[in-house]
Amino acid sequence: MTVRVGVIGGGQLARMMIAPAVELGLELRVLAEDEGMSAQLAATAVGDYRDLETVRSFVRDVDVVTFDHEHVPQEVLRALVADGVQVHPGPDALQFAQDKLVMRARLAELGVPQPDWAPVHDEGELQRFIDEHGGGAVVKTPRGGYDGKGVRVVRAGADAADWFDAAGEGEALLAEELVSFTRELAQQVARRPSGQIVAYPVVETVQRDGVCAEVIAPAPDAHDRLVQVAEQIGRRIAEGIGVTGMLAVELFETDDERILVNELAMRPHNSGHWSQDGSVTGQFEQHLRAVADLPLGATEPRSPWTVMVNILGGPAEGALEDRFARAMAEHPEAKVHTYGKSPRPGRKVGHVNVSGDDLDDAVYTARAAADHFL
Ligand code: ADP
Repeated sequence: MTVRVGVIGGGQLARMMIAPAVELGLELRVLAEDEGMSAQLAATAVGDYRDLETVRSFVRDVDVVTFDHEHVPQEVLRALVADGVQVHPGPDALQFAQDKLVMRARLAELGVPQPDWAPVHDEGELQRFIDEHGGGAVVKTPRGGYDGKGVRVVRAGADAADWFDAAGEGEALLAEELVSFTRELAQQVARRPSGQIVAYPVVETVQRDGVCAEVIAPAPDAHDRLVQVAEQIGRRIAEGIGVTGMLAVELFETDDERILVNELAMRPHNSGHWSQDGSVTGQFEQHLRAVADLPLGATEPRSPWTVMVNILGGPAEGALEDRFARAMAEHPEAKVHTYGKSPRPGRKVGHVNVSGDDLDDAVYTARAAADHFL
């Protein structure tokens, strides 16, 4: 019998599950937030994912529920589980991707290396944390942040006054040590409900203005020890919190060669888009295999290097389709992926993957193809 996978959220991550679902013989259904979303081709319902009855009616005709994002409220998720619905990842795991304070506390229990951190309830507590950490810190809103929104470098407790004002009674912000990292990495693993885990090679991620701009897979100059430690961290977290589906662990590498966990994502992730063209099993296929509890696919790279460059909407005039066509014409070796979104400045509207034997060539070509959209 065909397994029906329901995806909550109609963004590009749901969109990129459509082709692999067809290939795997799965039926994909999407609950989209609006008409005309990225994943509209598979959208069988439009509605509010925060409304239990909307979600209940969507999941009635599916066998497994998974996500395009991590924002479905715990009450909704727990009600589905109580109804007997298969939810992957389940609410017990997903809470650690929904709240950064809850995540930090759990990672500490698991003994995973991470920046120094503390919950801070007011400017005084934040000031003390800053004083104890060399005069600076990073403050984060525990919930709802993305692409660097909800992350601020501070030098004084008063620098977060507006966020303390906006926080509810008794709610804390997360203060973290300001890590002077040499680069950012990401480790992805996939885990099935039955426990099988596979790990991808650790990759380097480059952010601009808090947004992922480029990914190099595998991470350059990654010696064996680094590769092993990153994989062990990914496996320990996936097992320790019972993740099902894809898990991305964002990491900092420091100049004294420590690896610290920045944050977690429990779904396909921007740091894994390279795998669509650069790995034996792309992350969207892998996520579907994992949530449907099918045997997982091999994660080996198909080529020595794969470079992913995000395409952000810019001020450029002209239809997006024309620019995609130009990029494809001039760079036939580039794999261009489009999200079907209208291009607002800074909005992710697609990405380019280029694989090859020479890293500099791959970087150059991927950037040149993406530059057609500037
Ligand atoms: P988001 O949830 O918006 O992606 P992150 O927690 O990943 O937020 O932070 C966004 C970026 O801010 C990171 O990619 C990193 O560049 C920087 N950053 C986050 N935490 C720290 C930290 N403790 N020290 C230094 N830089 C940090």
